[in-house]
Amino acid sequence: MSTPSYHLITYGCQMNKNDSERMETLLQGVGLVRAEEEGDADVILINTCSVRQSAEDRVFGKVKALNKIKKKKPDLIVGVTGCMAGRDRDGAIRKRLPIVDLYFPTKDMGQLPRWIGEIRPELVNSTDAVEDYLKVKPEYHSKRQAFVSIQTGCNKFCTYCVVPFARGLEKNRPILDIMNEIRELVAHGCVEITLLGQTVNSYIAPDPENFSANNPYEHHFARILWEVNQVEGVTRLHFTAPHPLHMTDEVIDAMALPAHLNFIHLPVQSGDDEVLRRMNRRYTAAEFIEVIDRLRAKIPNLAIGTDIIVGFCGESEEQFQKTVELFKRADFDISYTAQYSTRSGTAAARAFKDDVSREEKKRRWEVLQKLMEGIVYKKNQRFVGEIVSVLVDRHEPPKVTDEMLAMPEKIQELMAAQPGLCYGQSRELKLTRFPGGEEYVGQIVDVKVTRADKWLLEGEVV
Ligand code: SF4
Repeated sequence: MSTPSYHLITYGCQMNKNDSERMETLLQGVGLVRAEEEGDADVILINTCSVRQSAEDRVFGKVKALNKIKKKKPDLIVGVTGCMAGRDRDGAIRKRLPIVDLYFPTKDMGQLPRWIGEIRPELVNSTDAVEDYLKVKPEYHSKRQAFVSIQTGCNKFCTYCVVPFARGLEKNRPILDIMNEIRELVAHGCVEITLLGQTVNSYIAPDPENFSANNPYEHHFARILWEVNQVEGVTRLHFTAPHPLHMTDEVIDAMALPAHLNFIHLPVQSGDDEVLRRMNRRYTAAEFIEVIDRLRAKIPNLAIGTDIIVGFCGESEEQFQKTVELFKRADFDISYTAQYSTRSGTAAARAFKDDVSREEKKRRWEVLQKLMEGIVYKKNQRFVGEIVSVLVDRHEPPKVTDEMLAMPEKIQELMAAQPGLCYGQSRELKLTRFPGGEEYVGQIVDVKVTRADKWLLEGEVV
């Protein structure tokens, strides 16, 4: 028998990616190896996202496609986990996935090896189970960058959101575990840490006695930023996603410490107070702007990203225009704008009518998209002539085109000797490209920007 193998498909946010890395540790721990192709695997797991209907529809489509493999390989184990399984209290989603063998919320992933062994003992011979899945060390995919979960779940209950149902209430990891994980990552060459949590800046350490005695802050999230800054080797630090309510002066102060990147992703969702109230976001547009002003006063060139939902139940044109105004005032660098879709089980699904037409949602989305592109193009011009610090994560060898193949051999040789292109992100999380060889991958390099577009800075290594 060949070595038992798994194939893992991950949808959704960084938190899901981090959870998948933990599942990989569990599976590899009992001898399974990663299969690149679905058809080669003995176990296929789908880590799902529920944030929008379209995300769930993708999963239904994927499971249907896997049915073809299962028909040829009846002993294939198909598993579904993540937010879909987490929020499926009445089993309605499960009923639509008849070929699935394993169906479990993320928090139960520690049982995975045991369950696989129960179905196919020839694959896994283990009855071990891990109770607290956050104790499982993730199988990191990059040596230089890592996502570190400091919290799961959420207590905010925004009316449109499934997360508190899918992932449960907020649970914070001990600071001791978090710092041990970060130190180990750094010992293996990691330089960039992203702290993850659903409302990451509401973090409260269950073990505050493990903060350093000389930590200058009171607010626990500011304290954690300070602690990570003390770890030699962490040169790039950021976090996602904070909630505007918890952007205290101390957190903003700690963001100005040296390791912190020059970027924050701060979801606003709407620029209208009544819509924000119905979303249960717990702040007004003016309060959000006040946070932005405090951030910019402390870190003048901070790049700011956000999340916006257009077409939320009852959103009028006038209310949408308030979002447009706020967008201009906040001068966002990037926005992940979503067209509202009802999620069953949420308060909005029970209390409000999804009454903005699909066409109107699309139109509003396009208005914001165009606005964002104009703003970001203009803002990016400030980088031209400046030097940005880039962590290179990818190299693209020179492309051989048909045109090149038609050229004389000597010219082909010269072109093939070109170094190719390196890609990475600046400290403002702007995608940056420069000509260079594969040896730059994993390095932090200074790049002088010669051209700036909406989504790309181009330049040369200094
Ligand atoms: S803060 Fe709101 S949108 Fe974010 S995860 Fe919690 S409930 Fe969902």
